[in-house]
Amino acid sequence: MNKTKVVKFGGSSLADSNQFKKVAAIVKADPTRRFVVASAPGKRFSDDVKITDMLYRCYDKAAKGSDFSKEFADIENRFNSIIAELGLDFSLEEEFRHIKNSFAHRAGRDYAASRGEYLNSMILANYLGFEFLDPAGFVFFDESGVFDLNKTLEALTPKLDETQNAVIPGFYGSMPNDTIKTFSRGGSDVTGSIVARAADAELYENWTDVSGFLICDPRIVEDPEPITTITYRELRELAYMGATVLHEDAIFPVRSVGIPINIKNTNHPEDPGTMIVAETADSSKHIITGIAGKKGFSVIQIEKDMMNSEVGFGRNVLRSLEKNGLCFEHMPSGIDTMSVIVATDALVGKERAILDEINFRVHPDKLEIENNLALIAVVGRGMRKQRGTAGKLFSALAEARVNVKMIDQGSSELNIIIGVEEEDFETATKAIYEAFVK
Ligand code: ASP
Repeated sequence: MNKTKVVKFGGSSLADSNQFKKVAAIVKADPTRRFVVASAPGKRFSDDVKITDMLYRCYDKAAKGSDFSKEFADIENRFNSIIAELGLDFSLEEEFRHIKNSFAHRAGRDYAASRGEYLNSMILANYLGFEFLDPAGFVFFDESGVFDLNKTLEALTPKLDETQNAVIPGFYGSMPNDTIKTFSRGGSDVTGSIVARAADAELYENWTDVSGFLICDPRIVEDPEPITTITYRELRELAYMGATVLHEDAIFPVRSVGIPINIKNTNHPEDPGTMIVAETADSSKHIITGIAGKKGFSVIQIEKDMMNSEVGFGRNVLRSLEKNGLCFEHMPSGIDTMSVIVATDALVGKERAILDEINFRVHPDKLEIENNLALIAVVGRGMRKQRGTAGKLFSALAEARVNVKMIDQGSSELNIIIGVEEEDFETATKAIYEAFVK
């Protein structure tokens, strides 16, 4: 580990020339911020369109053989206004011409989308006076399109070793046949993490437009407290339930080598943000670290006397789901009961087939599907040490008159997941926040 920070700026941090200036001030304020990973320009205001979406639309027209010059010109204009407003003596005209030609020759949707990061990083590199490093030559996917960490590190690590400062476009790399491939949407976060790993950085700063994670959704609880430190595992639990600030896959490259991620706000650089770490002795201010939840789940309830002594019962139930291409989210079970929780939108249209299959395989006494379930994950490394957490949680819910329909406590004791009626979702979340944080 050396004194290098990798800094990634999201689309809103690079949406216009004003944001570029903030980014430059942040980078220049700390010489250890050697490698900058950039997204494509994002939205400047809420109804605005991200460059990535403009590129997809433009390319779709080109691929159909329709005239795409208007769409392409709109994209050029956005980049050109950033260049002009920053007063740079620099032009992307050559690049535009080449890209437009590649669109006409159907260079691929991933190639098209990746040009947002590519062009934006060229501008940023010029503005900062940093080298421009194209990840097409350093970030690799295998034949089946899976990111190849080993091959990437082999190429990227020595390159970064010999480079003092660089801007690297996020979001894409290349396939063994040299075509461009992107990560899924929001994938510049993943590139940032890969670069941090390859640079053996002491910190990966992920700059965005919020000052880190909040304990709970601000649309449910007014002005919730921020989370100052969270472990990777806690974050996984919360992200699974929809708390999204960081791309889910961005954790893996840095996690195994213990590089922390700091979520920071480009518009408020003085805010400490949230630190995401492997392990921490910091016992967190509250017993819980965060609360996150989602609506839209269904429960398949199965009852059968003596199911616990029937060898293969669980497997047969799960085979019924598997046969219908459905994965399950949770599976709390009692002595003679088993509930399988699935996402409702994945279940729709398959209900009859699954019930028939379960009936056929295990002959239950009772079998039904209940919809409109919301799941809430209460996550916290502090829960392990604290007696009475579950008691406190359930009294708070009882007091708020919320009926708890399901409880699932993972053996990690890092989280308790409860299922409530969708209409109780907000009340339950508020009650938990009040009980543990207020
Ligand atoms: N520009 C890409 C997107 O909009 C990737 C990113 O910003 O991380 O999804």
